[in-house]
Amino acid sequence: MEPSALDTRITCPRDGGVAVLLVDIETESIPYIDEEGNPAYFCLEGHHVVTLQGKTFPGGGKLRLAASLPLAV
Ligand SMILES: [Zn+2]
Repeated sequence: MEPSALDTRITCPRDGGVAVLLVDIETESIPYIDEEGNPAYFCLEGHHVVTLQGKTFPGGGKLRLAASLPLAV
């Protein structure tokens, strides 16, 4: 999947909150992809990391919000 094809914001499939795309902390630009190849999003409502498939997982130490997003968490 092309990174440019990713949505930078999604609706959290678990609680309906706004979730924003996460990027790898080492590159700060490449979207973080979980072990199944799905981009990860940080839910501003539930404060969890979630994929479009509704899977949540820990991983905050390796992830950060995309720098280009004007968000304060
Ligand atoms: Zn959520």
